[in-house]
Amino acid sequence: MRIDVLGIGFDNLSLDQAADFAFDIISGEESAPTKTYVVTPNPEIVWLCRQNPTLRDNINHAGLVLPDGIGIIYGARILGTPFSGGRVPGIDFIDALFQRMAKAGKSVFLLGAKSGVAEAAGNALKKAHPGLIISGFADGYFTDSAALIAQINATQPDLLLVCLGAPKQELWMAEHLDRLNVPLCAGLGGSLDVFSGNVKRAPVFFQKLGLEWFYRIVTSPSRLKRSLSLPLFALSVFIQRLRN
Ligand code: UDP
Repeated sequence: MRIDVLGIGFDNLSLDQAADFAFDIISGEESAPTKTYVVTPNPEIVWLCRQNPTLRDNINHAGLVLPDGIGIIYGARILGTPFSGGRVPGIDFIDALFQRMAKAGKSVFLLGAKSGVAEAAGNALKKAHPGLIISGFADGYFTDSAALIAQINATQPDLLLVCLGAPKQELWMAEHLDRLNVPLCAGLGGSLDVFSGNVKRAPVFFQKLGLEWFYRIVTSPSRLKRSLSLPLFALSVFIQRLRN
């Protein structure tokens, strides 16, 4: 059973449980879903889903919906249905999945970010996870999805990382899943920028306090406009609680 936060159903899994589940999908375990995608919505995306039913449906149809933002964790708690596993940041989830994939010699195709970033991320990932195979990479500023999908399919990856930012990546994965010969896709925003070393993740102090979002706004003020939805998200959670 998923935990509902303002219309989005989140899986109640710990980081390791989520990575195990994703690895089962990649490995074709009978009990796991076949061909699906992972999403990691934060409060901004949950808020966006209220105005975009297609996006909401795409996210709710994902095989794995992980609570990336601390706001989601607090929201669920306020609504009386707390998560038992805590927050599952997308970048930590994918790192845990890469560990499992490296041991099994599985492969990943890296899609997204500006030219050169995915390749640099691939080189860093090969060093961090010896055994992990980078089947290919492409930047996220393509115009021809069909050609890109043919390029991805030709490399037969076990996992496709789709780092186009939200909500573009969620919409793209849902629209093209049928044509992708990949057991699992994962929409992971700016992760390639972090893996490549182009963007620094928030210091551990901020991560531990659940304040990564605050660090990102301070270091990248262009995000401020997007984050105006955060108080609206919080207000809606309180209203929902009163209604309940
Ligand atoms: N991006 C992309 N194609 C696009 C728009 C964005 O590949 O058409 C990339 C962008 O270069 C960046 C990532 O998507 O690497 C978005 O990063 P951000 O940290 O904004 O992700 P989010 O906060 O949405 O998870």
